[in-house]
Amino acid sequence: MKYLAQSLLSLIMLISSTTLFAFPKANPVPGGVALVPLGSVQQPKPQAYFQNKAVTILPYYDHWLAVVGLPLELAPSTAVLQVQTAGQWANYPVTVKAKKYRTQRLRIRDKNKVTPNAASSQRIVREIALTDRLKQTFSDFVPNLNFIRPVSGRDTGRFGMRRIMNGVPRQPHSGMDIAAVTGTPIKTPHRGRVIYTGSLFYTGNTVILDHGQGVLSLYAHLNTIHTQVGKWLEQGEILGTVGKTGRATGPHLHWSIYLNQTSVDPSLFLNR
Ligand SMILES: [Zn+2]
Repeated sequence: MKYLAQSLLSLIMLISSTTLFAFPKANPVPGGVALVPLGSVQQPKPQAYFQNKAVTILPYYDHWLAVVGLPLELAPSTAVLQVQTAGQWANYPVTVKAKKYRTQRLRIRDKNKVTPNAASSQRIVREIALTDRLKQTFSDFVPNLNFIRPVSGRDTGRFGMRRIMNGVPRQPHSGMDIAAVTGTPIKTPHRGRVIYTGSLFYTGNTVILDHGQGVLSLYAHLNTIHTQVGKWLEQGEILGTVGKTGRATGPHLHWSIYLNQTSVDPSLFLNR
């Protein structure tokens, strides 16, 4: 009986330790995620930095695991994760493999959205400064990365695609596009606090959520926004509806996920 109780207890502990923290699928390529095992959880929680940006660290069984976002512009090589544990610094190698992204050609009717005029350029500079500042958010609360899909619908633009708009090369795609009719509700993929709502030049009506420890998510081209800054949203709560505001060829949700201020492929957080 005692033996049965013990094995039941260890089974419960095993289930709780595996379901407590979910992780994205590891894919150490530019725009992907590297999962780097650090020291034992018996030791104090380390702090880790990738390109001087704070990295998310979560417990995984008996050790700490760094969840590192790898920038799209990173060249395949061995990068370095700097880790500080109880005042001691150590370098952990992160091997970045090559990945070839496809090219997508788009026709945008509003020419100012492809080659902005002087007034729009000034607006863009201000908005980049604002979003860069928001991306630096690193809250104490512990993220849960067990995300659900915010909208069901067809994937029309994969993360990382090289883009040619009206024949002009533009920034690669920093998120995942899901096509849906205007007004389709957008669900919160996991608990988070709203840190931005507003209208931006490229992303139109936009919501940004802070999921904790540098994990952020962004929702673009919304028709309507159903939340406000400072509000906590639970998984499944509606944050807004699908639209085509900003630079969009038709109604869809553009969904970005950021780790250590870097946009990474959202599909790694689904179908794990
Ligand atoms: Zn997009």
